[in-house]
Amino acid sequence: MKIYDLIGIGFGPSNIALAITLEEKKLTGHHIDAFFIEKQPTFAWHANMMLDNAHMQVSFLKDLATMRNPCSHFTFTNYLHQKNRLQDFINLKTFFPSRHEFNDYLAWAASHFDHSCAYGEEVIEILPEKQGDEVSLLRIRSRDHMQTIRERLTRSLVISIGGQPRIPDSFMGLKGDKRIFHSHHYLKEIKQHVHAKKIAVVGAGQSAAEIFMDLHQRSDTAQVDLIMRARSIKPSDDSPFVNEIFNTDFTDYVFNTPEHERGRILGEFWHTNYAAPDLVLIEQIFNVLYQQKVTGTERHRFLRRHTVRKAIGRPEGIEFTLHDLNNDHEKKTTYDAVILATGYHRDHFKSLLTPLLPYFNDFTVNRQYRINSQPQFKPAIFLQGACEASHGLSDTLLSVTAVRTNEIAHALISAFNISKSASSKRTVTTAMA
Ligand SMILES: Cc1cc2nc3c(=O)[nH]c(=O)nc-3n(C[C@H](O)[C@H](O)[C@H](O)COP(=O)(O)OP(=O)(O)OC[C@H]3O[C@@H](n4cnc5c(N)ncnc54)[C@H](O)[C@@H]3O)c2cc1C
Repeated sequence: MKIYDLIGIGFGPSNIALAITLEEKKLTGHHIDAFFIEKQPTFAWHANMMLDNAHMQVSFLKDLATMRNPCSHFTFTNYLHQKNRLQDFINLKTFFPSRHEFNDYLAWAASHFDHSCAYGEEVIEILPEKQGDEVSLLRIRSRDHMQTIRERLTRSLVISIGGQPRIPDSFMGLKGDKRIFHSHHYLKEIKQHVHAKKIAVVGAGQSAAEIFMDLHQRSDTAQVDLIMRARSIKPSDDSPFVNEIFNTDFTDYVFNTPEHERGRILGEFWHTNYAAPDLVLIEQIFNVLYQQKVTGTERHRFLRRHTVRKAIGRPEGIEFTLHDLNNDHEKKTTYDAVILATGYHRDHFKSLLTPLLPYFNDFTVNRQYRINSQPQFKPAIFLQGACEASHGLSDTLLSVTAVRTNEIAHALISAFNISKSASSKRTVTTAMA
């Protein structure tokens, strides 16, 4: 069986950026034989949140390559040039392309690597390959849509699988009920609910706000309750000094800060990324609710300071027991459909790595995103997008993607002891740990 230098799990922005970096490293004589495995049948970036008016929340200059190599073929600017839209885009006078356009850019970049990515395969297991007491390789098991299991061997691994929908405990009992779903599945699922009269959106972030506005525009009659614990919807702070926390050098600062102090930094800036929609969107929601006051109709409700104590699936709908934190009262309301815009958790990589647990003390990573392992474990395993606690709030976003892949590429090059002259003949040293 062929042995790859590197297998990447997931082919979202993080691993596309890595594929680009490794491709450009070939130009300097460093050849890493990489292959990627993506569970979706084709490239798609958050396809079920591809809402008509949604825009990027990060500058297009923080694309897959510019921050690492502004001369790269894979910059957003070159994409525009290739598509004959550079002048038109300039006339838009924006740093924030539509989500549709950025998805098209990512798909364009991904298409350059069709030969080195298997789409439609979900990685289900990562197993150690032992030589004596040492683990020398990893066996990556994946399953395609025909349920066929495939196996590949690799010397190193980059796990970039994004987040998994976070379902709060009070909704766990409703698993399998098609009337309640996470924002991650929004566009696919909402189509099944065109006749829903009463809809709840739970959450206080960008996705909750976007879905509220989408539902408002989608139907003239559906009533939508936007339910959140917070007293108000706070905008994301993207003012320049605050935005400096997404600079690449801030990663060094966070990583080198003692752990207890790190938590304080994350807490201080938590609202730059979580439960903080764009101001324009907040103003649109406020305007919708204000116009209701003008016309004297109460179609939608903003149920702030409310928590969902209980959610039960009844034949007539999903019954919420809502707790009003303002007056400590409880009331019951039934919905035809419920959307949970309750965010993502990012620890799914741990279940994929379960068979390797004996070789890790914990899941801590070094500055180059490599999981710390025991000396007899030789393969290098890197995480992208799951290191917020150690590397800062930019880790789950696009902000540092391009630069992070350079750091991982350098770590790989030194792990494999790849010298320019030896690039065509791979020598894998035992100095990988
Ligand atoms: C709706 C939405 C909008 C966003 N907008 C922005 C924005 O404007 N700016 C910003 O900076 N960030 C934004 N983000 C944050 C987002 O995390 C990043 O934009 C980016 O998607 C991170 O890239 P990634 O490759 O790490 O993860 P993802 O984009 O989530 O990609 C992970 C990939 O791994 C695949 N995968 C998962 N498990 C497996 C498996 N077991 N086997 C094989 N493949 C697997 C998935 O199918 C997916 O394609 C947004 C997030 C959401 C949900």
